[in-house]
Amino acid sequence: MKLYVLGTGHADVLKNYNNCFIIENDGKKMLVDAGGGNGVLAQMSKLNISAKDLDCAFISHNHSDHLLGFVWILRWGVLYPMLYKEEKDPFVLYGSNECLQAIDFLGKTTCGEKHWTKLKENRLILKEVKDNQKEKIIGLDFEFFDTLATDMPQMAFCINNKDYVFTGDVPLNEKYYEKFTNKKYLCLEAFCTESDRVKNSLPLSKHKTSAECAKLAEKLKAKNLILWHGEDDIDGTRKERYAEEAKKFYDGNIVVPNDLDTIVID
Ligand SMILES: [Zn+2]
Repeated sequence: MKLYVLGTGHADVLKNYNNCFIIENDGKKMLVDAGGGNGVLAQMSKLNISAKDLDCAFISHNHSDHLLGFVWILRWGVLYPMLYKEEKDPFVLYGSNECLQAIDFLGKTTCGEKHWTKLKENRLILKEVKDNQKEKIIGLDFEFFDTLATDMPQMAFCINNKDYVFTGDVPLNEKYYEKFTNKKYLCLEAFCTESDRVKNSLPLSKHKTSAECAKLAEKLKAKNLILWHGEDDIDGTRKERYAEEAKKFYDGNIVVPNDLDTIVID
């Protein structure tokens, strides 16, 4: 299994793309979040991946930096192949009921009602996921969970046959500490370093620093810690700064990806 990291930034970045990625397994591709605009297509094209190459997608929640890029995936990757009568399997979009309702509105509005109705009849499947729901997707054993985010519903997942946990863009709720102890890969959002906390006016209830994430990964005995959903990498030092701070508190392997990096999950 591989992760193609399309973007690593939080909602307000301009230089980087918003945090989202593609999971590839057995030649199949699943998009996880879509960022905030048609930059998702540009990021994918730099990796030689077309929207038509995607088999399915998951949107974690309705914030603009995760949801709105999916409008472009719908247009290029799902609608056009149907209109041009290309042979394609059904495309499944996984998300909470709130996410699917938002996509239903955006799809109907941007594709036009006629095309949208045809798309749902012929190719697009909107599949709701709930807390504790298990699904086999692109050959992987997904288990979805509710992150218990406070401002709107947000779902995340673990992939049990890869020991991989994606926690979304909110701090991991304490409820899950025991469940996600001893995992091989733990992905956490890191908004900035501890030393930049004041400069960034870090919204403490919503985001964590690289130091706080490292302390949690150490406590949960994760073997690999992936840190993303961070600030703009203005001067190219973000990777070093986050990793240097995290390694003071965590003994495992630290991955701070840049946009367009590939991470191999074995
Ligand atoms: Zn976000």
